[in-house]
Amino acid sequence: MANPLNFNVEISSENQFITEFKNGTSLYLKREDLLHPEVSGNKFRKLKYNIFEAEKQGKDTLLTFGGAYSNHIAATAAAGKLAGLKTIGVIRGKELGENLGETLKQNATLNFAHSCGMQFYFVSRGDYRKKANLEFRQHLSEKFGDFYLVPEGGTNAFAIKGCEEILSAKDKEFNYIAASVGTGGTLSGLIRASSENQKILGFPALKGDFLSEEIKKNDVKDNWELILNYHFGGYARVDSQLISFINKFREKYQIQLDPVYTGKLVFGIFDLVKTGYFPSGSKILAIHTGGLQGIMGMNSFLKKKNLPLINY
Ligand SMILES: *Cc1c(COP(=O)(O)O)cnc(C)c1O
Repeated sequence: MANPLNFNVEISSENQFITEFKNGTSLYLKREDLLHPEVSGNKFRKLKYNIFEAEKQGKDTLLTFGGAYSNHIAATAAAGKLAGLKTIGVIRGKELGENLGETLKQNATLNFAHSCGMQFYFVSRGDYRKKANLEFRQHLSEKFGDFYLVPEGGTNAFAIKGCEEILSAKDKEFNYIAASVGTGGTLSGLIRASSENQKILGFPALKGDFLSEEIKKNDVKDNWELILNYHFGGYARVDSQLISFINKFREKYQIQLDPVYTGKLVFGIFDLVKTGYFPSGSKILAIHTGGLQGIMGMNSFLKKKNLPLINY
């Protein structure tokens, strides 16, 4: 089958050496952020088999959900355009739809998705919470007709299958595989693709201990652990320490991290090394899952709050 994203079916990204710490532990970054300029990182992995499936089912439209700065919304819009599928984004925040021109001026994520042809449906926070309800689904069907539904954050069985392809045979040499966790779909794919003697570490980007249960539902092995103390207060919350870490990391290694996911992950790894978590000589592979498009949105927030900005 022709790959609708113009990629070979199996594509693997480079592991870039970052540093060796004092106890001989070394850190590499898997540059999934470089997979595709618009459908970056794990969102490419998560969408690939969903797009195959949508085409198999003869659908011409993808419908999905997200917040106004969502990487998943941006990636779905771009992937749909590349695959020749229409896209509909159900976006949290009814007020954003009141003056779309103004919203697009102020929001780089939605502006990008719009430029890819995504049609928006802005809903109140209350309605957004109901998005999994049958009644709301029926409402969407009446409004938009037939579509292929991709869940919020893009996680389902097809997404997990795609994320298994992040790891390749050459990655067996690593003792630890580390990745940021939003819904847990990416981590589930990594766990499934790992060897029993590797340990998979998930760093949730949000508060709450429900994620372990979510990941267990995905029929995974038990060679994994969630590291719960690097969420910086919750989803999309940041502080000046995190921003300073991201900026220093960029200066030192010429690699951009994002403030919502990968910045927290790499900060957490550096901090765990200090606490002696990793036995000496460990080899760690951290997954750079992309997400850089969200930086502009974060910077406009930081600017309003008079906080230091992310160099980008
Ligand atoms: C969406 C996203 C994640 C989280 O992936 P899940 O599969 O939902 O856990 C991690 N990193 C980046 C950059 C993302 O955009």
